[in-house]
Amino acid sequence: MFLVIRDFFKSLLLLEMLKGMGLTMKYMFSPKITVLYPMEKTPMSPRFRGLHALRRYENGEERCIACKLCEAVCPAMAITIESEQRDDGSRRTTRYDIDLTKCIFCGFCEESCPVDSIVETHIHEYHGEKRGDLYFTKEMLLAVGDRYEKEIADNRLADAAFR
Ligand code: SF4
Ligand code: SF4
Repeated sequence: MFLVIRDFFKSLLLLEMLKGMGLTMKYMFSPKITVLYPMEKTPMSPRFRGLHALRRYENGEERCIACKLCEAVCPAMAITIESEQRDDGSRRTTRYDIDLTKCIFCGFCEESCPVDSIVETHIHEYHGEKRGDLYFTKEMLLAVGDRYEKEIADNRLADAAFR
């Protein structure tokens, strides 16, 4: 009986509506958190896992030693590697492809790489209009690495203590 009377008065005095209006007023004068993307962007973790890149050493040599750990660990089987031995005895890839339509951006490839070659960058603003557009070849991955090397190196440095 008490509950019925309470609900009757709550309804009569429009208490729920006043509560709702109070909440609206509270947020009307508080700082806005809406971000005007893409003009404004939120901070991004150095661990963000975006578009992949292959890195080089400072002398321009590819880091990748074609150990194929990343290919083996990839749960989506998105990586395809072929390799050969050079005249100097070093081993390098002749093919390094990532099918981003298969990739689930788990970061296992990056974690498994012993030479920090394959990494995931902060780049997330890319798209493909057909399936083939998201098939990244070695040349494309190296080009991403070359272009964003400074940011990649800075992010890895920022995260070094936690790796
Ligand atoms: S992020 Fe994960 S799914 Fe994507 S290529 Fe690397 S290991 Fe494979
Ligand atoms: S990217 Fe790293 S893990 Fe993958 S094959 Fe090259 S060296 Fe090995």
